[in-house]
Amino acid sequence: MPESLIPVTLLTGFLGSGKTTVLNHLVRRPGLARTLVIINEFGEVGLDHLLMSRLPDDSVVEMSSGCLCCTIRGDLVSTLKDAHWRFSRGGESQFDRVVIETTGLADPAPIVQTLMTVGVITRRYRFDGVVTTVDLTNAERTLDTQPEALKQAAMADCLLLTKADLAEPAAVTALEQRLLAINPSARRLRVHNGAVAPDSLFGLGLFDPATKIPDVARWLNEEAFLDAQDAHGHDAHLGHGHHHDHDLNRHDERIGAFCLVLDQPLDSGLIDAWLDQQLSLCGRDMLRIKGILNVQGRSGPLVIQGVQHVRHPTMELPAWPSDDRRSKLVFITRGIARETIEASLGAFINAWQQGETSPVGAGKDRQANPT
Ligand SMILES: [Zn+2]
Repeated sequence: MPESLIPVTLLTGFLGSGKTTVLNHLVRRPGLARTLVIINEFGEVGLDHLLMSRLPDDSVVEMSSGCLCCTIRGDLVSTLKDAHWRFSRGGESQFDRVVIETTGLADPAPIVQTLMTVGVITRRYRFDGVVTTVDLTNAERTLDTQPEALKQAAMADCLLLTKADLAEPAAVTALEQRLLAINPSARRLRVHNGAVAPDSLFGLGLFDPATKIPDVARWLNEEAFLDAQDAHGHDAHLGHGHHHDHDLNRHDERIGAFCLVLDQPLDSGLIDAWLDQQLSLCGRDMLRIKGILNVQGRSGPLVIQGVQHVRHPTMELPAWPSDDRRSKLVFITRGIARETIEASLGAFINAWQQGETSPVGAGKDRQANPT
C-alpha cells in the first residue's frame, strides 16, 4: 500500500539560502523525533555539531564522501535500504519519516528520480516532496546567474522564503511574483531565523498525512497553474514576471508552468506512448510533470508524475475524488511552451484515431501497449 510507505522529503536550497538554519531549527522540534535526517555535507558548513550531539544517537546520518546528486547516489540507496534494520530496536523501526538535506549546488532531479524508481527504495519509501529554501535578500541575482538555484526553485513542492525580515518589501513582492510564475503550485512560506513548523514541510505528496487518503486537489493544485496563466496572460508559460530578453544567455533557462485539461477519456496506450515520447525527446527540460488521467476502461483515475526523463510507475486510484472526471496534467518546463505540448498531443491523438503511425513512431508503441 503506497500510503503506508515511509515518506521522504528532499530539503534543498542554494548556498547561503538558510537551508541548514532551517534544519537546525527543525531537529529541535518534538515533531521531528521519529525522523531520520540524512545530511549530505560535502565541502560545506554543515549542521551544528553541538546540537547534533544532543540528538538521539540514531537519527542523523552524514554522507560526506561526495555529492548526492552525482557521485554518491548509490550510497543513498544503500543508506535507505540499511536504515530499516540499522535504526530499529526490538524489530521496530525507530523512524517514520526521512529528510534528506542536499548540498547547495545539488540538482534535485536525479535524487528524486532515484527515490521514485529504485526498487529497494520504493518497496519501503515514497518520495513526498522537494522543499527549497530561497533567500529573499539575494535570490533575484542567484536565480539570474545560477541554473541550479533556478531548478531547485522550479522543482519545489514547498518554497521556504528566508531572511524576509532583511529584504526590502518591494523586492520581496517582486520575487514572490517571479516564483509564482516559475512554480505556481508550490506552497510558499516566509521563514524567520529558520523557524518553521515541521508539519508545513511534510505531507506534500499525494497522500494526506493524517487520513492516508489521496488528496488529489491539494497535490495537483491545478487551480494555481490556471490562475498563473490568467494573471500573466498568453505568454505566462515562458515568462517569469521579469524582463530578461536582453540577456540571450538566459534563453534556455526560461522556466514556465502550465496546465492541460482534457475533456475526453484517453486511450491508455496513447497517453503512455505520448508521455514516453515527450520524455525521451525533451525530458531534460520537463522539470516536473504531475497528472490525473481519465483512461478508458478504468474506474479510477491514473496518477502520473515525472521528473525530467523519468516517470514514477503509474498508479490507479480506487475512485475519483470528485465529479470532475477530466484529465489534468501540470507541467513545469524549461523553454517548452504550452502550445508546443498541446500541438504535440493533438497531433498524436489525430494520428492515433486515424490508426496512423505518428511522425515519431506511435504505431510501434501502440502495438507494444495494447489496451
Ligand atoms: Zn551532485
